Amino acid sequence: MPQKNYWLAIGREGLLVENDNRLPCTAEPPMPMQPSSRQINLPDLDGKACKAFRPADNYDKKRFKAIDLRASFDILPHHHYNMAGKAAELLYWDDNTHFCGRCGTALEPHTDISKRCPQCGKIVWPLLATAIIVAVTRGDNDEEILLVQSKNFRGDYLGLVAGFVETGETLEECVKREVKEETGLDICDLRYFASQPWPYPCGLMVGFKAHYAGGTITLQRSELNKGGWYRRDNLPAIPGPVSLARRLIDDWKNKL
Ligand SMILES: [Zn+2]
Repeated sequence: MPQKNYWLAIGREGLLVENDNRLPCTAEPPMPMQPSSRQINLPDLDGKACKAFRPADNYDKKRFKAIDLRASFDILPHHHYNMAGKAAELLYWDDNTHFCGRCGTALEPHTDISKRCPQCGKIVWPLLATAIIVAVTRGDNDEEILLVQSKNFRGDYLGLVAGFVETGETLEECVKREVKEETGLDICDLRYFASQPWPYPCGLMVGFKAHYAGGTITLQRSELNKGGWYRRDNLPAIPGPVSLARRLIDDWKNKL
């Protein structure tokens, strides 16, 4: 019997899963590939080899369905969701690194997660866009939390201050800068909470907790629609469970 593989097929419409919501697990690719795509090896999943590729649009629509990668968090086992995210990041990297940035020569595959320029020898790895996210609380018992609505949120809810780390900046400096820029507030007692891959398209979210230290809220109108201090008994709609924002808010909410 040929060995079965897990296939992470991520196309224009999202991740392709069997109609019963399982990842395809077959010896051969379960659907045709886009002509420009290739198979990228991933770490083993549940003891089976695992490969990512871009499926062609003419896959069997009776057998497979496309699901949004974020929505797959609620559908797949957690480690399958994580592997789908890794697949999405590597396919994005593969799509966006055809030529050497130094000399313009076509890159060649080197290892599973690197390409090499045959002309000048430059090696290209996937890039991570690192971002911070922070739960700022105030009050003797952290009665209030700072929530904001970014203009790029995909729904009418409030989340946490977040932003990309700039070149030459520490994570701590980034957190303080983002809170100051977006809300005008100063913070103290910065503590690390947790991190999370954020494959939309190639991010790493680093989560912190902090206390309010001073200032009054002045929202950065170019980035935010609204924001303010909220208590546990008047929380607005908040981000879904897929996000580190939700874990940070839940951590505060459940600590009494
Ligand atoms: Zn080169």
